Amino acid sequence: MDAENILTQIAAEIRNCKQCPLGNTRKNAVPGAGPASAEIMCIGEGPGHHENEQGLPFVGASGKFLTQLLEDGGIPRESVFITNVVKCRPPGNRDPQPNELQACSSFLDRQINTIDPLIIITLGRFSMARYFDNARISRIHGEPVWKNGRLIVPMYHPAAALHQPKLRPVIAHDFSLLKEMIEREKSRRAKNMVRENKEESASQLNLF
Ligand code: URA
Repeated sequence: MDAENILTQIAAEIRNCKQCPLGNTRKNAVPGAGPASAEIMCIGEGPGHHENEQGLPFVGASGKFLTQLLEDGGIPRESVFITNVVKCRPPGNRDPQPNELQACSSFLDRQINTIDPLIIITLGRFSMARYFDNARISRIHGEPVWKNGRLIVPMYHPAAALHQPKLRPVIAHDFSLLKEMIEREKSRRAKNMVRENKEESASQLNLF
């Protein structure tokens, strides 16, 4: 099965999922949206009112701001895979509970493994917590870190900047650095590949 079909299969499982109580209160599950070939994956917190209505991620006010942040940074939204740590709306926009995060965790792991993005952007504290223990977003926002061979960039959640206008230029600046990060990561990987190929050729020559 190719990556696009695997994502479709995961989305179907998410839409049928009843592993936690959110499965009984949702209108629509929100598996995520974007191409299987995405170089960037954004992981938010969980669907809100509009996302629950439409079954799509980040379509409300913070979604509009996220689109603007990406596009101002030279990254078309349609090129990014956008999802959340929980795929169904926590009622009243409360925080997701540990059992709900746990129930969705393997869906998210499978989405990440299938897409294999160059960069993961965490939006907000629940997705940040998957990669950073006891971190404070005010200290680490916008700083890329390698985790298990992949670049993870913790970012403020766009909703934070909507509530605190002084964060707007901060988050806009962080997003403006993304394109450069991707280019650097691509050339780093290309150099590693050339080095590995050279080592492989050298070891084959040694055989003869
Ligand atoms: N906030 C999120 O974290 N995710 C969404 O999909 C929408 C708003």
